Amino acid sequence: MKIRTIETFILRVPLGEKRFYSSQAAFPERSSFLVKITTEGGLVGWGEGGQYGPPEPPATCVERVLAPQLIGRRADEPVRIFEDLYAFSRDFGQKGTYIEALSAIDIALWDLWGKSLGKPVHALMGGAFRSAVPAYGTGCYYPDHYRDTERMLRELGEEARGYRAAGMMAIKLKIGLVPIALDAERLAVVRNAIGPDVALMVDANHAYTSASAIRMGRALERHDVLWFEEPVPPEDRQGYRRVRDAIDVPVAGGECEYTRFGFRDLLLGECIDIAQPDLCCSGGFTEWTKILALTSSFGVLTLPHVWGSGVAVAAALQAIAVAPPIPFTAAGVPLQNEPMIEYDRTHNPLRDDLLTEKFSLVEGALTIPTGPGLGITVDEKKLARWVVTTPDR
Ligand code: CA
Repeated sequence: MKIRTIETFILRVPLGEKRFYSSQAAFPERSSFLVKITTEGGLVGWGEGGQYGPPEPPATCVERVLAPQLIGRRADEPVRIFEDLYAFSRDFGQKGTYIEALSAIDIALWDLWGKSLGKPVHALMGGAFRSAVPAYGTGCYYPDHYRDTERMLRELGEEARGYRAAGMMAIKLKIGLVPIALDAERLAVVRNAIGPDVALMVDANHAYTSASAIRMGRALERHDVLWFEEPVPPEDRQGYRRVRDAIDVPVAGGECEYTRFGFRDLLLGECIDIAQPDLCCSGGFTEWTKILALTSSFGVLTLPHVWGSGVAVAAALQAIAVAPPIPFTAAGVPLQNEPMIEYDRTHNPLRDDLLTEKFSLVEGALTIPTGPGLGITVDEKKLARWVVTTPDR
């Protein structure tokens, strides 16, 4: 089973009036970078690389640098290939673009390997702890008209009530774009809308200094918030530790971290209670299994960060299937010792319409695909609608 071709796809969907804000930026579009690897025998594997960043750098990295090294190699050696390519790019690519490119290749190779054996990726990684996983809704972003406070608060309440009505047992609110007092008001609106039984998390996308994060943390304590995600910039390890020591809300992070080496440092730095590696950024399934080994040894619950297309959602579902309860109990409790899957609820056709299969919530949970590989089929006719070609590529 040798690699014959590696194709890259940059996908873009403008959001028009549906654009929204996190603490960091407006989102005028959704984009994804996909890789399709085909073997000499005609088997096909799909992978995705990157998340918030532009898709061109990892695409160029695959096309110009990594793919030429892989043509003709055995496709059923994803772990060895990751190590070889990481060793090749270590001196200049320990984080960022190269690891995103490696992640896309790794996911596609595991998909291929599973398809060649007729088994889902979770079976190749050693067996699933669960067949479905409760989902938490990532939404409650800031609208384009976030300066119209009254309207923003009214619509926020409506959005949060919608998630509750859809059967979600947990939702995540964005914070950090506006002053702490207004975010505390938003928090109260959402808590009132969902009631005491739906779990509530917040995500600052590293908007604060540790001092501001601790002030925000006091408001989070009052509203029974389950975790405070990315309170401070990812490089500020000491800030993470200060926040974690000062407030009675667990601290989550890791979506901007790469490989087992990055997570080793977050764990040794005592920065996080919950680790959130993104499969498409942190090194695919190969690094996921190694990150899990580290986090489980530190007693840290590990939930994938998920933001991309349907391929990224499928990869995260395969990955979460093999995350053990931390610690073990006879009947796991979601978000206590059992993982939940992040389920982005903002408008994104690349997530909802790219695959032949549909992800849908059943009693608040997503089913883990059991078909070979990732267990999904990319609809290439639909894919063609969103592919962007540029003259120099
Ligand atoms: Ca986040």
